[in-house]
Amino acid sequence: MKADFLCPECGGHLSVGGFVIFSATNSTGEHGLILLSPHLGDYSKIIHPSFKIQESSKVDYFCPICSAGLAAHDIHENIVHLVMIDEKFEKHDVYFSGVEGEFCTYKVSRQCFEKYGKTAENYMRYFMTRHI
Ligand SMILES: [Zn+2]
Repeated sequence: MKADFLCPECGGHLSVGGFVIFSATNSTGEHGLILLSPHLGDYSKIIHPSFKIQESSKVDYFCPICSAGLAAHDIHENIVHLVMIDEKFEKHDVYFSGVEGEFCTYKVSRQCFEKYGKTAENYMRYFMTRHI
């Protein structure tokens, strides 16, 4: 079994067809769908060409099932939160930056803290000051 990604609000499955699917709003208020790779540290992204995302702009991510906003306000408003169930059925919290061009992903659970991406240091201090 591959890893599954769930909405932290409704528990709905967001990985379909080999991608993790979100609804999103760009910095000019337009709505669209974003498909992300389920592989942590892989920042390839599929969007419809009509949905424009400016470099360095913040994108708001929402659950496409329950419409909940996925921003992890307890960490930082730029950070998006998902629940991951790995191959061993262990649960982790996964966080990534919603800012276009910021490559940082964090996998957090009692057993582990892993970071991915070349700008992973950007938000490290927000995790370090928090009791996980
Ligand atoms: Zn949901």
